[in-house]
Amino acid sequence: MKKLLLIGEKINESLSPEMHNAALKHLGLDADYRYELFPVKRENFDAEMKKLKSDKDLAGFNVTMPYKTDILKFVDETDSFTRKCGACNYVKVEKGLWSGKNTDGYGFIMPLAKRNIAVKGSTVLFFGAGGAARAAILQCINNGCEQIIVINRTPERAVNLRKQILTATGLEPNNFLIYTYNELKNNELRCIILDEGVISIRDLIAVSRVIVNATPVFAEGGDLPFDFPPEIFNKNQVIYDISYCDNVKSGLFKSAKDSGCLLLRGHEMLAYQGFMSFFSWTSKKPPISIFMNAAEKK
Ligand code: NAP
Repeated sequence: MKKLLLIGEKINESLSPEMHNAALKHLGLDADYRYELFPVKRENFDAEMKKLKSDKDLAGFNVTMPYKTDILKFVDETDSFTRKCGACNYVKVEKGLWSGKNTDGYGFIMPLAKRNIAVKGSTVLFFGAGGAARAAILQCINNGCEQIIVINRTPERAVNLRKQILTATGLEPNNFLIYTYNELKNNELRCIILDEGVISIRDLIAVSRVIVNATPVFAEGGDLPFDFPPEIFNKNQVIYDISYCDNVKSGLFKSAKDSGCLLLRGHEMLAYQGFMSFFSWTSKKPPISIFMNAAEKK
């Protein structure tokens, strides 16, 4: 029996085993492979990875928080997108060689692409400037997105993200705007790179085609600290929460729903990135609905 794993720290609630084992069963591969959780404490990470390197039954694994960057020092080969992301979310193991890639960008763009929503020439706004935002932004730029707006609680993280992405992509600096709201009241934001005073969330939403929550705030039972009156949205906009939760309770989703916007949830992104790692391990393509249903059911 070949082993497939999810390596992470707090992974008990993960949707991945449900998805991958459903796909293995669907294809009649459940006697050949088994997908299991592999929780690792931070202090044991290096030692555990060294042990896994000699595991002859290991066919591949997904990597999640907080190890998406740490795993890179153990992979033998990767690609340029993954290097730009500085993070890897799956590894294929073949004859002991670890090939690590990042499919968060692919997972992010597919739910849009399958609905014929192209980001080419558009503005995409992100709440959050972490690892998932980085992969999604790089993918948007690859797909011809014209302008990126990032709103982040901590200015330094947004500044670093912008610097790295501009270097990696050659995007025109004026087309990557970053805002913070830490010291300001509700709906006012401060642009970090330009001294243009404060701007309202309404004005930033107005120019954006896709508005993405790339923070865990809804999943943690909280909400973004802005008012989102329904009239600030229009029905051509897409509101995309990449976390996995009941986001319909958030102010952003409630108002966007009232305005007729398309709402997308993180389960779909997870299904697509999972599908891609599954294909790489098994060379088989199960229907995406298997991943989608398993993620939604759980
Ligand atoms: P990360 O690297 O830790 O970054 C988290 C980001 O969220 C940071 O910009 C942080 O801002 C911001 N943030 C955290 N708590 C916040 C709060 N209470 N209020 C406002 N901003 C807050 O995490 P990540 O890997 O990017 O993951 C972000 C989310 O995406 C998670 O919910 C994760 O589960 C989800 N995700 C989904 C998929 C998928 O396939 N659907 C894939 C990857 C990740 P500061 O800089 O101010 O701390």
